[in-house]
Amino acid sequence: MEDNVSSDGDEGPNERGGGAERSGSGSPGNDEEPDEEEQPFDISLAASHSYMGNSLVQVSGRSVLEAGWQGRVPVVAHHGAVFPGETVPMLLTNAHDAAVIMRAIQGDKLFGLLCPDESGTLVSGYGVLCEVYEVSAGGEGGEGGERGARGEDAPRTVSFKARATHRFRCLNMPKHSVPIHVYSRMGPAEVRVLPEVRRGDPLRPARLASLDALRRARAPLDNRLRSMDAAVTPWPLFVYDIFDYRRMRQIIKDYFKTMSLEHVPEEAVSLSFWTASNLALSARDRLALFAVDDALLRLHMEVRLIARKSVLCCSSCAVEIARREHIFAMSSEGVHSNYTNLVDIVTESRASNTELSGAPSAEFSWFPGYTWTIALCAACMAHVGWRFDAQRRNLRPQQFYGLCRNYVQPRSDAPPAPPAPPAARSLSAELRTARHALSALVYAPPERGDDDS
Ligand SMILES: [Zn+2]
Repeated sequence: MEDNVSSDGDEGPNERGGGAERSGSGSPGNDEEPDEEEQPFDISLAASHSYMGNSLVQVSGRSVLEAGWQGRVPVVAHHGAVFPGETVPMLLTNAHDAAVIMRAIQGDKLFGLLCPDESGTLVSGYGVLCEVYEVSAGGEGGEGGERGARGEDAPRTVSFKARATHRFRCLNMPKHSVPIHVYSRMGPAEVRVLPEVRRGDPLRPARLASLDALRRARAPLDNRLRSMDAAVTPWPLFVYDIFDYRRMRQIIKDYFKTMSLEHVPEEAVSLSFWTASNLALSARDRLALFAVDDALLRLHMEVRLIARKSVLCCSSCAVEIARREHIFAMSSEGVHSNYTNLVDIVTESRASNTELSGAPSAEFSWFPGYTWTIALCAACMAHVGWRFDAQRRNLRPQQFYGLCRNYVQPRSDAPPAPPAPPAARSLSAELRTARHALSALVYAPPERGDDDS
């Protein structure tokens, strides 16, 4: 099974997983046929995280938590805000972390990802609860996962998938600021689940129920009915429009339509989280959206952010790397996805000012059928992401970039980049060295992978 994961390109990782990839012939010989049909990449493949292997087994049982729930959960630092609804695939190669998460899986299956403050260096006090739903221990296949889940022998390596479910606030935090690296290993923390405020339509008490049958019909008629409803209240219609959730949803839907993202959540809270996950935002804006309890306010902030055109720049030297209009979806999870080792990337059809480093590799590719090559900022040689190239000529797109969300920073298109403060510069220099180390780690195969095959 391990061989399938670390596909070497002869067989093509696209043999697994099905979808559009399977419908065509995957044999390399077919690449030479001149009349082969173009095949769009099946974006559900990336969302299935098949590079993690097929040894993951489902864990049963779900916890139902409500706002105000307090509890002690193992937490670990993340490099940014993860919003509820996002999938979090993780590979823990540290024995301590693996033991902690296996204990959690035997219990309520919950752990927390701590969100850093806007500088990325201190604990913000916010985080997201994640619930494990698939696990494999020790990279030994389904049986290993089962055994590990029962805790009969402590695994050294655990890979698992979790789903972010609730925002939380840490309790009993020290008054002074705490560096985020204090939580680089799993450790317990007391947390409280934050409320998600849903506002109903403020015109509802004023509206005539007898006209309800007409309301869903057509937008112009609906607007006239709303103005009739508003006429009997002290406020004009535009005040109610501010709270009109459907209007905001339409703006968001129109915006993501250009990125071929059609399945926009219906419900206000899920929509506000989904939008936050899929917008290319600075750490500061993401944290601001995360900290808000009111879904409607979050949506307002997002609509405002959508109106702001921006470019993505290298976070070390601020040179332009990509433009927001080139963002597109390579995963059914959205234009942005979390991958193992807490890497989250945004996919771009093209990038500028990048230089490739090292040879292309298909090992553990997040996008089956594509090889990856490390992409550096051409100006300062900081790692910004990866370029993915199709292994077959008929696969579309042939090439795209996956940019690390925390290595590129959005900047407003209009004004020139403000000079970075001296403190940030020295920090970014430190980060640059750490990044090179991380980029090597990200794709490193699990420690025990080779021994088992
Ligand atoms: Zn740079």
